[in-house]
Amino acid sequence: MTEPELLKERMEQLIHNLWWTWHPEAIDVWRNIDPKLWRESRHNPSVFLKKLGHERLAELAKDPSVRITIHRVFSELNRYLTCSNTWGCKNSGPLAARPVVYFCAEFGLHESIPLYSGGLGILSGDHLKSASDLGIPMIGVSLFYREGYFHQVISESGEQIEEYEQLNPEDLPLVRVTDKDGQPLNISLPIQGETVQIGAWTVNLGRVTLYFLDMESAVDKIGIQELGLRLYGGDESVRLSQEIILGIGGMRLLLALGIKPGVIHLNEGHCAFATLEYTRYIMEKHGLSFEDAKNQARSRTIFTTHTPVPAGHDCFTSHLIGHTLWQYQKAFGLNHEQFMDLGRIRPGDRGELFCMSVLGLKIASKSNAVSFIHGKVSRHMWQELWPSRSPQEVPIGHITNGINVLGWLSPIMKKLFHQYFPPGWEQRIGEESIWSHIHSIPDEELWNVILLLKTQLLEFLPRIPHRAHPQDINFDPHALTIGFARRFTDYKRPTLLLDDFERITKLISDPKRPVQFVFSGKAHPKDELGRQLIKKVNQFAANPKVYGKVVFIEDYNINVGRHLVQGVDLWLNTPRQGREACGTSGMKVSLNGGLNLSILDGWWPEGYTGSNGFAIGSSRNEDVSVRDPKDREAAFQALEEEVIPLYYDQNEEGVPIHWVRRVKQAMSTLGWRFSSDRMVMDYVTHCYLPAAGILTCQMNSPFI
Ligand SMILES: *Cc1c(COP(=O)(O)O)cnc(C)c1O
Repeated sequence: MTEPELLKERMEQLIHNLWWTWHPEAIDVWRNIDPKLWRESRHNPSVFLKKLGHERLAELAKDPSVRITIHRVFSELNRYLTCSNTWGCKNSGPLAARPVVYFCAEFGLHESIPLYSGGLGILSGDHLKSASDLGIPMIGVSLFYREGYFHQVISESGEQIEEYEQLNPEDLPLVRVTDKDGQPLNISLPIQGETVQIGAWTVNLGRVTLYFLDMESAVDKIGIQELGLRLYGGDESVRLSQEIILGIGGMRLLLALGIKPGVIHLNEGHCAFATLEYTRYIMEKHGLSFEDAKNQARSRTIFTTHTPVPAGHDCFTSHLIGHTLWQYQKAFGLNHEQFMDLGRIRPGDRGELFCMSVLGLKIASKSNAVSFIHGKVSRHMWQELWPSRSPQEVPIGHITNGINVLGWLSPIMKKLFHQYFPPGWEQRIGEESIWSHIHSIPDEELWNVILLLKTQLLEFLPRIPHRAHPQDINFDPHALTIGFARRFTDYKRPTLLLDDFERITKLISDPKRPVQFVFSGKAHPKDELGRQLIKKVNQFAANPKVYGKVVFIEDYNINVGRHLVQGVDLWLNTPRQGREACGTSGMKVSLNGGLNLSILDGWWPEGYTGSNGFAIGSSRNEDVSVRDPKDREAAFQALEEEVIPLYYDQNEEGVPIHWVRRVKQAMSTLGWRFSSDRMVMDYVTHCYLPAAGILTCQMNSPFI
């Protein structure tokens, strides 16, 4: 093999294992070859390699430094893949025979693979990345959407416009799943009385494999174009069909591939049909009744619920369920009402819809919420399902979400950790003791890294892609920079502070202690209130009184998120208390030297110690017209009396010593605890091993 051929092959091998998505040093291989081309390829390495062309490759092959870098990263990947000394080898060995299969409607892996909408997808992506890092036998299952989730453009008047990109699986590092003869593997599936063929794509994510079901030929057969197109798009009938393909199709695919699930993890309700399909498989294989087979499938199933907001739970009418799923009802030996009862809180109540989350809760042997407080909220919310129990006795525990540290940690901060942390710290991210080494970093040194990260964010802002209406940006790298980026929706109150125009403009235009704001976020296309909030923020940013000091970055995605969480000083979070399940963006900020200012909701009551960030005391008043002004007052008070004075209390060298101390507190107390390594270890110990029938010591279980 010639040197250019070898180089190309190595690059392709690197691209085809998505390990690079959470190892920025691997991404640097491509970026450093041609930063402009990398940007033009929209950070998609497959497209980048194609555009690079044969001649450029031949040239690069002559460059020893390029060759050395690629071979080095390549051998790092190989070392990673062959390491047999993982936490999983020691602690989840028995799962090797039958892996955990992890179902989710979206996976957020990288900005070049837009098959995610937000928090749920990022979480499931980080879950798989940490499962790979820890060496847990796991397989992910999801759907391939031809248009993914939309791109957001902001119009001249500040409104959100949705644009859809045609995704071509050939342009992504996905490989078609084939049978033993090398032919595309198809599974057949009855939907709405038609039998459709479903294909699949696969990709490796470190040591973990992920499958995406391809709905293309089903679309042709049943003639519903929308079916294969968009994540969370289409009407109820489209959603139900997508969920049948995800759950039932996904389980059929695994079984066709000879994969026997040891544990079925249903991440949110969309995929809950998977356990029903596994039930049918057991019925057929062992000649069992539906009830007996369901109990077997149930013992292997874990369900995670992610939203305390009622509208976030998919529900379907009796008519639609009957029309779409009648063949499955027959296969189970259930009549229509018996089947409907699987998704009803009150069996026999014909007025009640079929709810996917109810199915999840009923069909799993263990269910969990995603933070301590969300556990409490969920137990109240679903108490009716266990009418003889008090809310405290409702069997829904919690495992608090986390983030993949290596994926969200900026390379500059990582370099600092390398200097002050013991060797091998990357393999021990979920351990508290590792993070105490933060305190050995000199204050000035940490502050310089924080300033550098902020400068990088400021350099990124003007590069924001194709805005219809260009913004003026006049940011000061020394000013307190506040970030707010998340889905725009009413309960998250993105304009809580902006609604007091006088008070906020006073803070922004303060000559001595100014603050500046970066906003970003999409609204679900059907969320009218969310859309209005986007418009409001953009109109505020256009006001001459705050000229250049308030920026809205369009098209919030993993790339925008990465720049924001790594570059801001303060992360603002203002949901109505009790509505946020967990939230993970604030965790990413704390890793990179930023602080949180948040309502005590979601993860923050667990994270906040009193000295590692700031809390906004919130009102419990049911009436939002009372509650919102009270919370606004509390948020302003925290900003004016705590945050701003602390930030601007700087020594002669310009270092805000007490601020930096707080940052160190944040990193050392939050870094390990809110890592997805800790989260996956909790799932293994408290859910996966018991569900696979393996007894463990459950001391200090977060489960109730
Ligand atoms: C982390 C992240 C989220 C989820 O964070 P929240 O705090 O739940 O909003 C959503 N979108 C992107 C792009 C992210 O990086």
